[in-house]
Amino acid sequence: MTITTATLDRASALAKKLVDIRRTIHANPELSFKETETCKLIESTLKEFGYKTSVVAGTGVIAEIGTGKTVVLRADIDALPIQEKNEKPYCSRNQNVMHACGHDIHTTCLLGAAKLIADNPPKSGRIRFMFQPGEETINEDGKAGATLMMEAGAIKDAEAIFALHCDPRLQAGKISVREGAFLAACDTFNITILGRATHGAYPEYGIDAIVLASQVVQAMQAIISRRKSALEPAVLTIGGIRSKTYRPNIVADTVEITGTIRYFGKPMQDLLLSEIKNACSIAETLGGSFNIDVHHNTVTLMNDVNLTNLVRSVAKDVLGNDSVVEANREMGSEDFSFLSQALPACYFLLGVKADDVLRQIHTPLFDANEEAIPIGSAMLAEAAQRYLST
Ligand SMILES: [Zn+2]
Ligand SMILES: [Zn+2]
Repeated sequence: MTITTATLDRASALAKKLVDIRRTIHANPELSFKETETCKLIESTLKEFGYKTSVVAGTGVIAEIGTGKTVVLRADIDALPIQEKNEKPYCSRNQNVMHACGHDIHTTCLLGAAKLIADNPPKSGRIRFMFQPGEETINEDGKAGATLMMEAGAIKDAEAIFALHCDPRLQAGKISVREGAFLAACDTFNITILGRATHGAYPEYGIDAIVLASQVVQAMQAIISRRKSALEPAVLTIGGIRSKTYRPNIVADTVEITGTIRYFGKPMQDLLLSEIKNACSIAETLGGSFNIDVHHNTVTLMNDVNLTNLVRSVAKDVLGNDSVVEANREMGSEDFSFLSQALPACYFLLGVKADDVLRQIHTPLFDANEEAIPIGSAMLAEAAQRYLST
């Protein structure tokens, strides 16, 4: 029996306990930066495994084992404002809150890895476990959970970091990864189009901000098709549009538009933001005005070549030669990107396909095959151990 097969066997022996933990977290989801009970559960479980814990960044938890060369394993712990539509005994008990991105699975996988490592500590080096709040949104200061954890010292003296994310498109037993740019950078924008109010029966006395905004939206849609190379991926999505007055008989003087852009690299970011501004200038041409407020949410997630090769080889040893699927770049984004730009990192996708229903993340039907939990635990534990032994 190889060491890595033994790791999976040891993880599988923990399956019942891990599934119980996952179901407890899944049934009691908490929104970003409010993960109080989840934080307590993580702490008490780590203490049961023999770790000392520290609570940082409000509801984040750090624990570690060993000394010297340091590698970090990271999980995110927050849920989303979604009403779960599954019918399982462990479904969300919290109205309009759901672990629809699988962070319950990530948290449980990392707790499992902590147990495996506690039972078989590294002969040299240090493994740090980082349970991070607030991945799904930013706090009132505009900071992501990963940034807050970094500020709290979560990657101090660390030389490498690993994390996984559920992928409901991929069978349990497979992982998917790529080196270099993996997940897109993300900016969000809020645009205000300003016109002049008037009575709905006398539009000639006003400047209709809704008509201006409609043309701005159309012009923005053409940015992706007409203003950038087809060989460079980018997305522009307008997720919301509303007039301030919203009345049948008032010509609106203010319309708000909100949306997001996804891209790889600064040149594309500069192009998209400048073209959004150009599109908004239609409002000025037609007698109105505009404001744009842009927030840079995440950077591009970069996977280190050596760590990615390490994850591939761990997956082949733990799960078999055909377990690794080469990933495409994804237009989704992650605040792990900040960690990946601060130190060598590898972020890989864990197959959790539950059944033949499309259970995309961020939807009310998301669910995961729980057989993937010990697999994720074994992958994280083995990646850290192998990093320290090479
Ligand atoms: Zn998410
Ligand atoms: Zn997620």
